[in-house]
Amino acid sequence: MRHVIIIGSGPAGYTAAIYAARANLEPLVIASSVEAGGELMNTTDVENFPGFPEGIQGPDLMTKMQEQAERFGAEVLYDDVVDLDISGPVKRVTLGSGTVHEATTLIYATGSAHRKIGIEGEERLSGRGVSYCATCDGFFFRERTIAVVGGGDSAMEEATFLTKFASKVYVIHRRDELRASKIMQERAFANPKIEFIWNSAVVDIVGEDVVSGLVVRSTVDGSEREIALDGVFVAIGNDPRTHLVHDKLELTSAGTIWVDGRSSRTSLPGVFAAGDVIDPTYRQAVTAAGTGTVAALDVEHFLAAVGEAGAPDVDADQIEGLAEVDAA
Ligand code: NAP
Repeated sequence: MRHVIIIGSGPAGYTAAIYAARANLEPLVIASSVEAGGELMNTTDVENFPGFPEGIQGPDLMTKMQEQAERFGAEVLYDDVVDLDISGPVKRVTLGSGTVHEATTLIYATGSAHRKIGIEGEERLSGRGVSYCATCDGFFFRERTIAVVGGGDSAMEEATFLTKFASKVYVIHRRDELRASKIMQERAFANPKIEFIWNSAVVDIVGEDVVSGLVVRSTVDGSEREIALDGVFVAIGNDPRTHLVHDKLELTSAGTIWVDGRSSRTSLPGVFAAGDVIDPTYRQAVTAAGTGTVAALDVEHFLAAVGEAGAPDVDADQIEGLAEVDAA
């Protein structure tokens, strides 16, 4: 039986793995079969992760994190978790291959999944002009007209990136101001290929076999119009990936996994959570990495308390103290 299994291979999962591996806990990381590395695998320039003044490509950053974890003894499996039995003292993780792994503790760091608009045409034309990943699919839209839906950092990043390929990029946003950070907004505003369509909700995506247009409805006067285009990139945020633990762990009203104060302790002993799956607010690579650290330290404390591992790096009172400050 393992000391710890980490589910998820984004910044939270790999940072937890680095810390747990350096504490000789020989963590097993379940990295997923197709989504290993998490969201940053679909990102281009990461300019705000400290330590990389020139920026770094998202996939390169994730490869470095994985290598760092493996260097200290983490084992990485490219498989998907299909079932969890985590209520007892032994945590059992069943993978798609049928293999069952057991551990005393579990770190749940599954991140979040792309949010869908939920309209006709979106599902039907997914992969046929509807995409959730500019870096994956942008190449297919050379000299085409496309739209990005959303007003956050993701939408600005995708729109700016897509101008490398597309001849025109509409950004369709439901309000008249963006949620994106100032720097990302300014970059998009300065790009001559980007045109903003404000106060507009996408109510239909049309096309027989491939996307040929979309219908927007004004959020001001309710009027509708169709815009001819070849592709739609949906970038309206993410929802925490909690489907495996819905009936097992307490969730917050935001749909994230509930954790105790600033710790990573969930509602079940021995189960810890980190990264976007616990964070309805900040959701940055660096904050996810920070909570991955917290989870690994909490695991160390837990194992020490149940007599399974040596003394942890941080005084237990320190973490208790932090939780109390947060609750105050
Ligand atoms: P987000 O900040 O939650 O923004 C989502 C956007 O989509 C908002 O503008 C929202 O509109 C809109 N939206 C949500 N649901 C919608 C719906 N059903 N129909 C139409 N529009 C909808 O999500 P995000 O842009 O993916 O960013 C998530 C986090 O990652 C943020 O913390 C962001 O800073 C971070 N991020 C950072 C970078 C970077 O720094 N390089 C890049 C990408 C993401 P409203 O504004 O009206 O709510």
